[in-house]
Amino acid sequence: MSRNPDPRWDIRDGAHVDVVVVGMGAAGCAAALDAHDAGARVIVLEKTGVAEAGGNTRVSGGGWFHHDDPEQAANYLRALCGDRELPESIVQVWAHGTREVSAWMQALDVRVGPHGHYNATGAEYPELPGSECYGGLHCVEGVLGRGRLFDTFEKALRERGIEVRYETAADRLTTDPASGAVTGIVTATGEHIRASGGVVLATGGFEGDPTLVREHLGLHDVPVWGSTAATGDGLRMAQRVGADVWHMDNMMAVNGITEPGSRHGHFAMFVYSRGLIWVDGSGARFVDEFVPSGHGQALIDGRYVLHPHRPMWVVFDEKTRAAGPISGSADVLPVGWNVLMNEYRWSADNSTEIDAGWILRGDTLEELAAATGLPADRLGDTVAEYNAACAAGVDGRFGRSAATLVPLLEPPFYAYHSGPMLAWTNGGPRRDEHARVLDTDGAVIDGLYAAGTVSSTFSWAKDGGFHIADAIVFGRIAGEHAALRAR
Ligand SMILES: Cc1cc2nc3c(=O)[nH]c(=O)nc-3n(C[C@H](O)[C@H](O)[C@H](O)COP(=O)(O)OP(=O)(O)OC[C@H]3O[C@@H](n4cnc5c(N)ncnc54)[C@H](O)[C@@H]3O)c2cc1C
Repeated sequence: MSRNPDPRWDIRDGAHVDVVVVGMGAAGCAAALDAHDAGARVIVLEKTGVAEAGGNTRVSGGGWFHHDDPEQAANYLRALCGDRELPESIVQVWAHGTREVSAWMQALDVRVGPHGHYNATGAEYPELPGSECYGGLHCVEGVLGRGRLFDTFEKALRERGIEVRYETAADRLTTDPASGAVTGIVTATGEHIRASGGVVLATGGFEGDPTLVREHLGLHDVPVWGSTAATGDGLRMAQRVGADVWHMDNMMAVNGITEPGSRHGHFAMFVYSRGLIWVDGSGARFVDEFVPSGHGQALIDGRYVLHPHRPMWVVFDEKTRAAGPISGSADVLPVGWNVLMNEYRWSADNSTEIDAGWILRGDTLEELAAATGLPADRLGDTVAEYNAACAAGVDGRFGRSAATLVPLLEPPFYAYHSGPMLAWTNGGPRRDEHARVLDTDGAVIDGLYAAGTVSSTFSWAKDGGFHIADAIVFGRIAGEHAALRAR
């Protein structure tokens, strides 16, 4: 018998619960835990298998923004958003909710403590009003990364007996034909799961979908730092039932190296030497490579702009190559898919990656230009001008600080293309302070919630630990609201 070509007629009835949570990252886990604790029957659908579940949360630093001053936190968030204002109701809920995250985490029976580095450095945008509220980054056991946060969530779900269905991708929402309210979800295999309270979309961002990335961020085939499961599924499901969108052009990107054949990139930290420049396709520098930047933005020419934000070639010399590994290992920064999940060990002298062709090499700048396709004359002029700036201790063109002006003098020379590498996206279905998704008229789509990076609060600049704090705050709100709606 031939299969019906319209998948809407190929649905099997499955479970009937109060709250369906889609995605098992920080937002989904927080939603499931609070919905359960509010008395709801909850099911979590997770697209990947046990070994990869947890999305970016699993490979993140696992640190959340801590503060004890909602009034100043609200001022800081407003300032970070600049002219991309958020509704005041969302600002207030975020400012009060983020103060509670550490206590809520402690109630999951783990020790919570400040992470030394971020506690010592303070806010990333100290010039902005309210930044003095920044109380550092709190982590499980006060230790960054290594999946501790995800492990804590996974254990808490298990202890409560909350069902998690792995390898079960949510595909589309079902709605009540009369009211338009969301009534459940259909999985990719055609199972219909009914939700009397609501569906919480917690599917992460869209950095794993090259088409959405090109469309909304203008970047082409860039690698990702975290999970490639973030393919914008929640965004698409919400749009199909009429959701409006917000923050679509906001993101966090870093200088990263592509491994041919892999969608996961390597974070290029250059902790051992500042001897490098970024050039565009014409071979010219275009920015202060070491301008102080936060999680995604930097203050350049009086404006907070995305940084890095466009494709570039990263050029360095033998001295920098020999100084130490340009990408980190778990000992330096225990985050990211390649470091934690693939357990990739970057070679101490970068030779493995150069031999593999991830980094191109030339005995002269002319040879490097030939290898990369950059114009040789322009690249030569750029390096000469940069070296002169290093000798003078002044970068007249972009104002790079004297301490970072390390010349490129020693052959051979090296370069790699950086897309740049995407850490995460911020845009998704527009929602209100109760995490309820809104349609294009600004009306609530009953029964549909979004939390975490599928619909991040941040319209523009954001500080360290903001995203996990945001995922927990609005995940909790979504779960509890949906649970109450089921009564
Ligand atoms: C390297 C790195 C380090 C970071 N460090 C920090 C940090 O220290 N502090 C901080 O605040 N932020 C950090 N972030 C950002 C932070 O990790 C994320 O913003 C946050 O974890 C997002 O949580 P989430 O629940 O929204 O999404 P995710 O954690 O990405 O979870 C989404 C889940 O949904 C699943 N899913 C997707 N589609 C479907 C579908 N159709 N059906 C079912 N399941 C689906 C995915 O498989 C995944 O498990 C970091 C990010 C990276 C990449």
